Amino acid sequence: MVNNGQLIMPDTAPMSFETKRVRTLPALREAITGLRSSGATIGFVPTMGALHDGHLALVRHAKSLCDKVVVSIFVNPLQFAPTEDLDRYPRDEAGDVARLQSVGCDLVYLPTVDVLYPENFVSRIEMKGPALGLETDFRPQFFSGVATVVSKLFHQVRPDVAVFGEKDFQQLAVVRALVRDFDMGIDIVGLPTIRESDGLALSSRNAYLTPEERAIAPKLHQALKAIRDGGSIEDAKAELTRAGFAQIDYIALRDAETLGDITPDTRSRRLLAALWLGKTRLIDNIAA
Ligand code: AMP
Repeated sequence: MVNNGQLIMPDTAPMSFETKRVRTLPALREAITGLRSSGATIGFVPTMGALHDGHLALVRHAKSLCDKVVVSIFVNPLQFAPTEDLDRYPRDEAGDVARLQSVGCDLVYLPTVDVLYPENFVSRIEMKGPALGLETDFRPQFFSGVATVVSKLFHQVRPDVAVFGEKDFQQLAVVRALVRDFDMGIDIVGLPTIRESDGLALSSRNAYLTPEERAIAPKLHQALKAIRDGGSIEDAKAELTRAGFAQIDYIALRDAETLGDITPDTRSRRLLAALWLGKTRLIDNIAA
């Protein structure tokens, strides 16, 4: 825009700002060294891409806590079983980078599978504690895959702070335990789930839902609230089955810190659920 011969910049993201993209470890290291050169702190948001407003809320929050923000986009094969949706997981690099640019992300790391897992890669992280039960009962490989990739990404990026969503509540507990057990010295920050106006938690996998399924999907959040407000889990399961959910993997009330059973020492409780709507697996959780 030009006014009286003066160039006027819009007051949103500066026009000169560009999110830098790197794909290899040497390029990442060089970019991180550059970001750190003036003593800047680094916030990190690991993702699998197909970014929505939930992811962008994490990036904005990281930006409010740190001088620079790094986002990784990597669909991690280690956390998918052979029967799962690795091949059809939504991918939109150009759209993702544009979204990241709009919220001021400084650097996006887009490694390919062979960058993270070269042929001679033989290590796995196996965890107990919060990794036991719930998701693990249905996806036994999942947290080993998550912990291995998160550990690797943390070593590569070496952030001061990493921001995760409560949407994946068990994952957040697993990452906290990982960082504590291996003395990684990274602050793990969890953010509340961003939802559609009808209560459905934003998820990259919502793109799989047919219009009919999309209309049914908010009943999951409604059912969790009904249980929190005194209803029984059995009644909620019956209601969800009637509404058209094909299979309920679990709806469980747990200790929010250990993710184990509720005990007299439990200080806060979490209600967690995973269930199938057609071919799409939805997860959600609320404080209870
Ligand atoms: P994903 O790309 O699904 O692996 O998610 C990357 C990060 O975004 C994880 O920390 C998720 O918990 C977080 N996330 C996903 N959906 C939401 C949401 N609706 N609200 C807040 N955070 C989310």
